[in-house]
Amino acid sequence: MASGSKVRSGKTEKYLDVDELLKNLNLHGEELNEVVLAKEEVRRWPEVKWLAAGTILTRKSFSMQSLKNTLQAAWNPAQEVKFHEIEPNLFVMQAFCLGDWNRIMDNGPWLFRGCALMAEAFDGAAVKPPTPNRVQVWAQIHKIPPLFRNNEVLSQLASRVGDVVAVDGNVVQTRNGAFHRIRVKLNPAKPLTRFVPLTMEGSDPMFLQVKYEKMPKHCEHCGLMGHTYLECGTGEYEENQLQFGQWMIAEDIYWKPGTPGIRTRSAASEGGSVRGRGQKGGRGGGRFAGRSAHNQRKWVPIPSGGKKRNSGEAGLGMDREEDLEDSTSSPLKQPGVTGQAEKDSGARKKLDMNAGGEIPPPPPEYITPSEKKKRMRRAADAASEKSDKGSVNSDMVITADVAASEEDRRAQ
Ligand SMILES: [Zn+2]
Repeated sequence: MASGSKVRSGKTEKYLDVDELLKNLNLHGEELNEVVLAKEEVRRWPEVKWLAAGTILTRKSFSMQSLKNTLQAAWNPAQEVKFHEIEPNLFVMQAFCLGDWNRIMDNGPWLFRGCALMAEAFDGAAVKPPTPNRVQVWAQIHKIPPLFRNNEVLSQLASRVGDVVAVDGNVVQTRNGAFHRIRVKLNPAKPLTRFVPLTMEGSDPMFLQVKYEKMPKHCEHCGLMGHTYLECGTGEYEENQLQFGQWMIAEDIYWKPGTPGIRTRSAASEGGSVRGRGQKGGRGGGRFAGRSAHNQRKWVPIPSGGKKRNSGEAGLGMDREEDLEDSTSSPLKQPGVTGQAEKDSGARKKLDMNAGGEIPPPPPEYITPSEKKKRMRRAADAASEKSDKGSVNSDMVITADVAASEEDRRAQ
């Protein structure tokens, strides 16, 4: 480098791009004498915790202040989350407690003006983080025949939709047929997947419909997220050119908080299925001991590419319910869903070993916060009474956190 000799603008411009400068400058002795950091040494330093890079999946410009206000309102963090803009539509966010971190990273998609926040953990080792490029969502695969309702098939099907984060072996029965839920990271450069074909050797393929829950806006013409068809090209399309219609969006009756639907449980609130970097397991484990089998994990976290996680990567989030009252705007609480960042825990090993090919256990029981309190009172009064209440509606369970989620949705 630095062979050029002309830096013409150097005399007048106060700010020049460093890369541009370096192309033209001849660096001298001390300027080339690097400060070298041994990897070992760096590893000993305390980590910069709960830092993430963020970007909004949109073509439009927006003000950071407006984004910050919207997200803070949606997250309702215990401690203010700091934002630092790196460049237009690339920023770094820092949380200051594990609860906030888990919520932000795992309870999405978070929407700003209908567009998704894409966030990735960032280790702080560069001035500019890589721009996140995945949207993590819940999706549903509909009408899988009973024979194929196992986690292995489900994972393979899910891998046709996106990078698989987790699959839920529980079937959700609805008037219009059954579905299974998956947590996937979508590549915003690819059109949304509408169907996944499943073929038994020698038979015709069955096309299983995919539906998406709480989605950022998407284009009915090209199938990409982040704009509408009216903003796509000229925006003038015939009906038959709109191939990615609203029928791809899941009926919210089956997932929206506050309606009868599948149960919810927050990964973030439940023993930290997802950890901040360097998190040492925190609140996990232990507290689950007395719960019914229903409440044990039903989720299979999967690494990208659809392979099963090893125990170190897998996440467990099924151990706790304590924060149900305090949940966020995600479509549902997210059991056992993990970011890539999490590391530890024996409990997770248990999860992983349980994972493959298991017959889906019955849906877990959901207990509303008020019911929970009542039960605790009753338990104190008379142990016998408790058993009557043991199985409220094992198929369909009321979702939690109506109020909190309503509020969040408004905020978005
Ligand atoms: Zn489009």
